[in-house]
Amino acid sequence: MKKYTPEDLIKKSCDLLKKRYQKDGHHSVVCATVLAKSGKVYTALNTGTYQPSVAICAETIAIGMGHTAEKDFEIDTIVAVRGMPSYPISPCGRCREYIADYGPKAKVIVPASNKKGWKVMKIAELLPEKYEKKD
Ligand SMILES: [Zn+2]
Repeated sequence: MKKYTPEDLIKKSCDLLKKRYQKDGHHSVVCATVLAKSGKVYTALNTGTYQPSVAICAETIAIGMGHTAEKDFEIDTIVAVRGMPSYPISPCGRCREYIADYGPKAKVIVPASNKKGWKVMKIAELLPEKYEKKD
């Protein structure tokens, strides 16, 4: 099975977004790629409506694809890119919850602190002290 690098995952997102990008649109402006622990890869575009509060992030859809396809789905690495030309973005708070639930040890590709390039962080760094149900 192919071993994916962070560059491969970024490229997968950029390639799909390049084909489907909607300038001035409310969907197909972000594309996410998830590498599962199984080695399988899932890539998805965001969806939106004219009412932004009901939009679904690309990360959430890619995670849903993996969850649907694999009984024991777990995130190894995830990235989302935005815009044209595309650049990695940080996951929103809602997506951080999803990533932590479906990949407690997930690696997340985020923009570098100097705003040039990217870096890899652990989800626990992006969502410390996450909510947990203890019953
Ligand atoms: Zn999100």
